[in-house]
Amino acid sequence: ERIDTPWPVPHRGSKELFERAQKVIPGGVMGQGRFAKPHPLYMTKAQGARMWDVDGNEYIDFHCAFGAVLLGHNDPRLRTVIDRTLDQHGVAFSAAHPLESELAERIIKHVPSAEKVIFCCTGSEATYHAIRRSRAHTGRNKILKFEGAYHGWHDYVQWSVHFDPAEAGSPEAPKPVQESAGMIRAAEEGLLTCGYSDTKTLRDIFAKHGADIAAVIVEPIYHNAGVVMPAPDFLSEIRRLCDDNKSVLIFDEVITGFRVGLGGAQAQCGITPDLTTMGKAFANGMPISAIAGKAEIMNGFAPLGKTFFSGTFYGHVLNVAVASGCIEILENDPPYEYLDSLGKRLKAGIQAAIDQTGVPATVGQHGSVWALYFTRRGLANYRDMASFAQTKEHPIHSSFQRWMLESGIYIHPHFIIRGYLNAAHTEADVDHLVDATRRYFIAHKE
Ligand code: PLP
Repeated sequence: ERIDTPWPVPHRGSKELFERAQKVIPGGVMGQGRFAKPHPLYMTKAQGARMWDVDGNEYIDFHCAFGAVLLGHNDPRLRTVIDRTLDQHGVAFSAAHPLESELAERIIKHVPSAEKVIFCCTGSEATYHAIRRSRAHTGRNKILKFEGAYHGWHDYVQWSVHFDPAEAGSPEAPKPVQESAGMIRAAEEGLLTCGYSDTKTLRDIFAKHGADIAAVIVEPIYHNAGVVMPAPDFLSEIRRLCDDNKSVLIFDEVITGFRVGLGGAQAQCGITPDLTTMGKAFANGMPISAIAGKAEIMNGFAPLGKTFFSGTFYGHVLNVAVASGCIEILENDPPYEYLDSLGKRLKAGIQAAIDQTGVPATVGQHGSVWALYFTRRGLANYRDMASFAQTKEHPIHSSFQRWMLESGIYIHPHFIIRGYLNAAHTEADVDHLVDATRRYFIAHKE
């Protein structure tokens, strides 16, 4: 089962599309995360919990557009919102419009840190603007981020994400590792890194650099490493250190915002950041993101303050309308209990399969996010995972993905297997995933 073997499902249409795409699109794909050997599978339709590729294969989708799809693909209630918006408003104004306040009010109602809100289109834009605002607010340069955390593609934060721990110094004195060619080297001067949940190193870094730290950016649940909860004192200690040093605390809730609950992870953990970045789930797949936070900080964005903020598509009328409609559905018909029960069913089922087969694996789940690790070692931070990924214990994960495709299940190929549930999934869908996983374990146990 080598990674360049052809797909185990009919794939002629995908192969031909890739041959065509390669001639006009570099690498044939919109980013490395969408590439797979020998060629990507081309999807053509997604509805509810299902997705279809161009060769007619049907999958239960547990990728959910990197977590952006929460209610189910192409939700009919949001289609109504789209039709209504097109009829009443059209597509784009790039001018102020009334729907913006409605959406901001909904976010402020639910998200504890939100006193003021502003919209852009992607998670990367949201973290970029939040960081720039923090630098302007504090008059300081340095940002502290945690290893293994992806906060977007820009030079401020694309450091030490999928890195080789050998290049990153010791955990006590971590060095940022550049993630992409072409990044401005000077960005490194503005960056400090630390292991997730490593409260001791965090304190040491603040003791040394506290007066220079403009902001700490952190995922309140470490989903970029799958499903890893923060150590019990970790977030409260970050809050305390930021307060003591007058640094801005940014929760990156691009994954957790409106996915774990209406108030995001901050409502669950009871710690309120100064700024919050959100994206993905709150518009069920439409491209909108938000920065929310204390009025005192948010008011520093232009025109009130001097931190530039503008984008042709920011506050795009269709995206704003869908986001507002999506939150309204989440308010009136909250899927969270249902999603959590599905998540628990998935976890219990996979755990039973692990126990039954003795395969060294760990399953993680929080609400509608789940992860599977092919090890029994506790993995608390990215260095654990990266060093594990380099060991012989680690299977070729593409074999798991291929097995799943053959079983009619779509997951994203990555060495950290992280999946999502949406409200259109049924118990039968989850049982199908569990059964396919059990069969994989049986076929692959030593
Ligand atoms: N922040 C987190 C926590 C993310 O997981 C991501 C993307 O996966 C981003 C930011 C960047 O979002 P986008 O891909 O929309 O730019």
